[in-house]
Amino acid sequence: MNRRWMLGVGLAVVGWLVTVAVASTPRTKAPGAAQENTLGQRDRVGEDKPRGPGRFVLVIDPGHPSEVSAGAEANGLREVDINWEVGQALAAHLTGRPGLTVLVNRQAKMKMMTNRERAEFANRAGAHLTLRLHCDYAAGKSGFVIYYPDTQGTNAGKTGPSDAVIAGSRQAALAVHRGMARRLANVFPDGGIKTDRSTAVGAKNGGALIGSIWSEVPTITVEMLYINNPKDAEFIRSAAGQQAMVEALAAGVIEYLKACQDKP
Ligand SMILES: [Zn+2]
Repeated sequence: MNRRWMLGVGLAVVGWLVTVAVASTPRTKAPGAAQENTLGQRDRVGEDKPRGPGRFVLVIDPGHPSEVSAGAEANGLREVDINWEVGQALAAHLTGRPGLTVLVNRQAKMKMMTNRERAEFANRAGAHLTLRLHCDYAAGKSGFVIYYPDTQGTNAGKTGPSDAVIAGSRQAALAVHRGMARRLANVFPDGGIKTDRSTAVGAKNGGALIGSIWSEVPTITVEMLYINNPKDAEFIRSAAGQQAMVEALAAGVIEYLKACQDKP
């Protein structure tokens, strides 16, 4: 071997080692970048953590401000404040629980988001459940009520949700109601389960709320209380009442998470 030939071999080996090192370096993904999963479908990673085996994705949707309204006000309380505070406390309460990813659909309380955008956020996140938090306003009523879509409606040319979303939403309503009713028994009135059809907006859109029409994942609306009822207002104004509401919602979510895991 002459020296020149040996130098050539040496450089070739170094070049090969560099190639191997680069090829074996794990590729980093930009947050929010799309990637292909094994089925060739596009997933989002990063801020919207991907749905995977054993991982349940919850999207919390604190209601208002939306294209429908800025939210109710009564008894010195604003619905938008209650929805936001309970939503944030619920996210903090559930975050870190194994197998559960919790997302809140916007960063700032007063950021306007349409009901279609709220549904599309949950669709992109691959949510197993969208929990929409609201407060109702009606004379002579008290307590919490859970609403789910049991039929399709139409909004801006879109008819939905699908039969699968209707079935999942119904199951979610039943499970979340069980968890909430147990925690709030003898603490706060249980108004039961109703359908989107029985709401003014749902009736106007053929039987489903706008957020349900655009949803490709199970979705329920929890009207936590009647803001115009002085007793309900007093309950949610107190630290103990708000804590009970957060724990009830968390118990409801866990009840549904378990129901999903028990599915054959
Ligand atoms: Zn509302």
